[in-house]
Amino acid sequence: MIRKLLGRIFRRKSSVEDHPQTWVKRHAEVMRASELGLDLALISHAALRTCETLQQAGFNAFVVGGGVRDLLLGRRPKDFDVATNATPEEVVKLFRRARTIGRRFQIVHVHFGRELIEVSTFRAIQTEAETDAHGRVLKDNVWGSQEEDAARRDFTVNALYLDPIRDQLLDYHHGYRDLQARTLRMIGDPASRYREDPVRMLRVARFAAKLGFSIEPQTRAPIAAMADLLTHVPAARLFDELLKLLTSGHALACIQTLRSEGLHHGLLPLLDGIFASDAGERFIQQALSNTDARIAADKSISPGFLLAALLWPQVLAAWQKRLAQGEHTTPALMAAADEVLEQQSDRLAIQKRFAADMREIWAMQIRFERCTGRAPWRLMEHLRFRAGFDFLLLRAQAGEPCEALASWWDSFVQADDLDREDLLQRAPEAAGKGPRRSTRRRRRTQSAAA
Ligand code: ATP
Ligand code: MG
Repeated sequence: MIRKLLGRIFRRKSSVEDHPQTWVKRHAEVMRASELGLDLALISHAALRTCETLQQAGFNAFVVGGGVRDLLLGRRPKDFDVATNATPEEVVKLFRRARTIGRRFQIVHVHFGRELIEVSTFRAIQTEAETDAHGRVLKDNVWGSQEEDAARRDFTVNALYLDPIRDQLLDYHHGYRDLQARTLRMIGDPASRYREDPVRMLRVARFAAKLGFSIEPQTRAPIAAMADLLTHVPAARLFDELLKLLTSGHALACIQTLRSEGLHHGLLPLLDGIFASDAGERFIQQALSNTDARIAADKSISPGFLLAALLWPQVLAAWQKRLAQGEHTTPALMAAADEVLEQQSDRLAIQKRFAADMREIWAMQIRFERCTGRAPWRLMEHLRFRAGFDFLLLRAQAGEPCEALASWWDSFVQADDLDREDLLQRAPEAAGKGPRRSTRRRRRTQSAAA
């Protein structure tokens, strides 16, 4: 116990001299940010205030990570992270609306109006960190120096520190050079870094797709052989990472990169099934490119809808199999849905509320086939009607035989009450033509009776 405690104190004070074998760089190249074409006006007021407050209290504070990377690329960052040498307790004391959150690492959320700034304390390189049997780091909440913090980040382009007050960019690992060359390069030995945290393999695929960067050969080389390590990552973390990938605005490119890097097989059962059939692939491609277009148009994205789309080809296949075995339409669909969700559950923790949305969206697909009487009116009152309807449109767009149905519903949704009554008299021919229970058995019994 005492030894552990001493170990902690020792590590807290750890310096580069303690582990000269690591890839820690002691000195940073310092550049004038505004001379690099970086538009400081794109930094949010909240991020500026956070750095200012910390610096006025005598601490160092920098904008780090994706925010700096995006600014240097001339893009408006989606959010800002701040890194500091103040501990979380010290940070919390300086802001009115700040609280420590303890996920994998302890960080502080500082709120300014609706904006949230994530403030993290410089972290140490782990020399004797707690790891699992596969070398994955389990815990590393040990504060360190700025140069250590830089060395434990993943890619060189993600390890740039921007001091917006002094107008300085600090670069320990030639991140600026790699950014200009549009290259993703792992800091340190790529294989060791993937072993410490296999999620970095997914991150490389996401950034390559999102930024249109190439992956430096040594950073790419170990991925194919190490992809299996992802199976040891907790399901909840994989789910978070998958959502980030899907909502990056470049979902289609991300999935294609995962595929080209050999990261889709066995990694997420969800991705395994995606390329199983041509029709399935077409459907997913359509769903992903629709999602990317929605994000580009600043529209909201519902994870339930996206996941429902990704798994639909598998649900459809399982549903058709059950129908062929003579099961009834609705129970067969719901059993297929449960079966597919169940297959995902060991590896990917789809949160309950998303799973509920997915089941509703799928179940609604049968109800769309009833285009007479009160049924369409009742369906329109469904809380998730819009999602279910968009899903029907997506199916039609991807070439499923429900085009006439989708276009009837499109008219029905847009029509006024009088026109709707009229439409009800002209139910589409496609109504009721979705997957159906096989009638072979019934016919056979009839002909036997004849
Ligand atoms: P995005 O634009 O998607 O937010 P980002 O680079 O900001 O990209 P975050 O997940 O927000 O990604 O992480 C912020 C920073 O923290 C990264 O830029 C990187 O420096 C560091 N980081 C995050 N995850 C890891 C990881 N798994 N290993 C090492 N460093 C990481
Ligand atoms: Mg970020």
